[in-house]
Amino acid sequence: MAAKVPETTTTKKDTRAGRTLTAELQAIVTRLQTDVEVPKTSVVGGDFLDVAQDIEHQELARLSASRLTERARRLRVALTRVSSGEYGVCAECGAAIPPKRLLAVPEATTCVPCQERLERGRAAVA
Ligand SMILES: [Zn+2]
Repeated sequence: MAAKVPETTTTKKDTRAGRTLTAELQAIVTRLQTDVEVPKTSVVGGDFLDVAQDIEHQELARLSASRLTERARRLRVALTRVSSGEYGVCAECGAAIPPKRLLAVPEATTCVPCQERLERGRAAVA
């Protein structure tokens, strides 16, 4: 099931980044398969408060599942950038992404100024 990263096209540094990304992605996939199973609402035998709480749990599970799915998507994008040799380079302006940022956010594909600009743009649209 795991995506194969071609060894020949990656440098030593990129391979390490690829491993970090793969490990993070694997952890999220595992969590999505185990932890974040959306619980079924049990209407039978439960009073109103129980049902309301179940619905709340469902919402939380759905929320964290979508957040994890979104992160998994970003990690996959970063992994394709590792194999194409573009990892660590901003997808927007082409500048090198500071190693500190990559340590904190391994799936980052943009530098901080571009990320902020993109988020502002998104907020303006929404
Ligand atoms: Zn940039």
